[in-house]
Amino acid sequence: MKLSTTIDFASFMQRLEQKNPGQPEYIQAVYEVLTDVIPWIQENPHYAQDSLLERICEPDRIIKFKVTWDDDHGNVHINRGYRVQGNNALGPYKGGLRFHPTVNESILKFLAFEQTFKNSLTGMPLGSGKGGSDFDPKGKSETEIKRFCQAFITSLLPFIGKDKDVPAGDIGVGSREISYMFGQMKRIATIAPGTLTGKSVVFGGSNVRLEATGYGAVYFLQHMLDAQKDSIVGKKCLVSGSGNVALYAAEKLLALGAKVITLSDSKGYLHLPNGLTSPQLKDIMTLRFTKHQPLAHILKQYPDLQFHSGKTPWHTPADVALPCATENEIDVDDARALAAGKVKMVVEGANMPVSPTAINVFKEKGVAYAPGKAANAGGVAVSGLEMSQNAMGYFWTHDEVDQKLQIIMQNIHEQCYRFANSESDKVVNYARGANIVGFKKIADAMLAFGV
Ligand code: NDP
Repeated sequence: MKLSTTIDFASFMQRLEQKNPGQPEYIQAVYEVLTDVIPWIQENPHYAQDSLLERICEPDRIIKFKVTWDDDHGNVHINRGYRVQGNNALGPYKGGLRFHPTVNESILKFLAFEQTFKNSLTGMPLGSGKGGSDFDPKGKSETEIKRFCQAFITSLLPFIGKDKDVPAGDIGVGSREISYMFGQMKRIATIAPGTLTGKSVVFGGSNVRLEATGYGAVYFLQHMLDAQKDSIVGKKCLVSGSGNVALYAAEKLLALGAKVITLSDSKGYLHLPNGLTSPQLKDIMTLRFTKHQPLAHILKQYPDLQFHSGKTPWHTPADVALPCATENEIDVDDARALAAGKVKMVVEGANMPVSPTAINVFKEKGVAYAPGKAANAGGVAVSGLEMSQNAMGYFWTHDEVDQKLQIIMQNIHEQCYRFANSESDKVVNYARGANIVGFKKIADAMLAFGV
């Protein structure tokens, strides 16, 4: 055992940048975690041994492969497929697949790194991973998407398994894509149902998995409000995105009496000054999930609504913001606008939607900030429950899974709150709590295993 008593943050980051050139998202994700973890290690030097931090930052393995598929006109296309297997100290590698033209090694390494701490926070036996492809599902026909999914999973299949690595969905990978991939896996191999999560309940999926990330983020928000002796009822909420996370977060906000005053997509945002109604939400879900059309097309049904092209929701006055679209969607100017608009809480439904400089603005202005690794952990937690149900060959009802999700989100909130150590801060430092609790569990497991 080798104990190095001090870890210098600046030189650690410099070495990391030299080793990983051109990977800004990955460097950003590590920077955010180490901002809290390195000072904590200085106070707990036991965790400075055996290059633990370097080992957690370096993914166990990166699998990179070619995905060849043909379009409806017989033209052959090639995309890049990836699987980053982050860390398996706590269990099989676990994390979603993203299909989006921006996908590259930096984005997937950042997502796998975040997943390491998130999965640790759930308290479940889950390691971390992330994968995907630079394939763009937009503008593709149903049959092209099917052929791409089949080609992608055929190449990935040798590297995954229920006790080894269990993928799920993420941006661009919803129920339709998971179904195509699961169908292909069954066609070409004998696989356990627990090899992929996010499946339809018809063939081994879990109740509430579809809703879990958005619902979980709202449950986390409820606990933040409870801790301030405040209530969610009547709170005006800015939600970004109009995909899986955003729309189920909106559904739960409505159910609990909050007001959703914005939704968005990559083309702009929808402003609903009087609050989204349940019939409107139902129509938006059909538009986005069934018809796969842009959010602005809802104006055909509701011509009185306002859609602001090329703009984001963050300049709208409100009480709470839930960024649920993608990374770095809130920059420093957006953060200032949110604080000026009297937003008191920011809850990340997406992964790393708030840039580090924007986080600093929230700290200065006393805006409570809940990082995605804590607030959006409900999705992977219910994926973990899907694996448990598959292993049992049984299922839990909607209410049973929802109850378990609520307990998990409560536990995550409690742990983050307890380790936030916020005496010197204006508001509870949930990021510090999440980073330290997430790190400690993995570090304890890795120390127990030896090098
Ligand atoms: P979806 O593909 O269902 O929806 C993504 C939404 O974000 C769409 O509205 C999309 O708009 C918008 N979006 C994507 N890229 C951009 C961009 N560059 N600028 C503005 N808007 C953009 O994905 P999910 O809802 O599943 O995922 C959203 C976020 O939540 C991601 O950060 C993901 O990693 C994270 N997450 C997801 C989990 C899950 O269970 N699905 C679990 C935990 C985290 P458009 O359609 O126009 O592209």
